[in-house]
Amino acid sequence: MNIEMENLFPDILGHESVKNGLLHAIKTGRLHHALLLSGPSGIGKAMLARAMIQTLWCVHSSIETPARCQNCPQCNRVKNNAHPDLIEIQTDTATLKIDAIRELQRKLAFPPYESQRRFVIIHDIHKMQDAAANCLLKTLEEPEPHTTFFLITSQIQRLLPTITSRCQLIRFAPFEHQTVVQFLRQQGQSQEMARQIAALADGSLGAALELANEDYQRELLDTFEGILNTQSTLHAFSIAATLKGKKSLSEHLLALLLTYIRDLIVMKTAPNEPIVLEHYRERMTQRLPHTTCQSLQRAATLIQDIQDAFLGNVNELLAWERLVIGMHGVLYNT
Ligand SMILES: [Zn+2]
Repeated sequence: MNIEMENLFPDILGHESVKNGLLHAIKTGRLHHALLLSGPSGIGKAMLARAMIQTLWCVHSSIETPARCQNCPQCNRVKNNAHPDLIEIQTDTATLKIDAIRELQRKLAFPPYESQRRFVIIHDIHKMQDAAANCLLKTLEEPEPHTTFFLITSQIQRLLPTITSRCQLIRFAPFEHQTVVQFLRQQGQSQEMARQIAALADGSLGAALELANEDYQRELLDTFEGILNTQSTLHAFSIAATLKGKKSLSEHLLALLLTYIRDLIVMKTAPNEPIVLEHYRERMTQRLPHTTCQSLQRAATLIQDIQDAFLGNVNELLAWERLVIGMHGVLYNT
């Protein structure tokens, strides 16, 4: 690894080529005015955007020798979200409204407060509806000399091509399974647990940390067991209702269900092969005679359909109801 980069980003794991490319852009003064950071959630996109901004503002930094002390007033203000020339847009709701973009444009009409360059971070840019996207497009098409955008997305396929074509695309690859396992081992997880969590985390350290949290794990496993043991349509509906609005729990639950079904398929077709959910082997063995390869395959397709649907706008409650009832049909052969 490049020593210089290690000093600049000691807290950000992996993504070497992304870090190299951005550092090169800083040193040559060719940082694009709109950077589109794309990749799965929880792999450090926003963290790296913030680190880049610190590097450009740090009092110890210069173009020739970029630095990021993480201790000076500039670095601290970025860390604490307290710099007047750093504008951040984030929404907890399903859509990023045009009002937020208009408000941004009003702010951008004035020069930066105290810096040569101002930064805008927009999280979950894929949540923009077309009106908001077209509004932002005007700003991206006529870039001001002193504003740099960091647009962040985990679902680039939902962006309008007119937006992506105005940006420099920076792709963040998911972490390797082994890297996630090592990371979890460093956090004190057992090898077995680290392996299971990594299988569900899908290359995301953020997801791995969330899944490693005991309370979160309990909620996930309780809901998972609830789905496996649904006794009635009413029960299925009540489970679906508890999941409403819980985005990451829903995603992890779908990943867990898919892993479970895949493990059952492995046990049926290649009994000597290892499975991911070793913990559940005994209970899976009991369930095995009541299922067929075709029905398990159907369940896997059902889960994948819902994973795809969740990427777009979908009625979560109906989707979950359909899934829980479908799973019951597969597992109890009804
Ligand atoms: Zn600093």
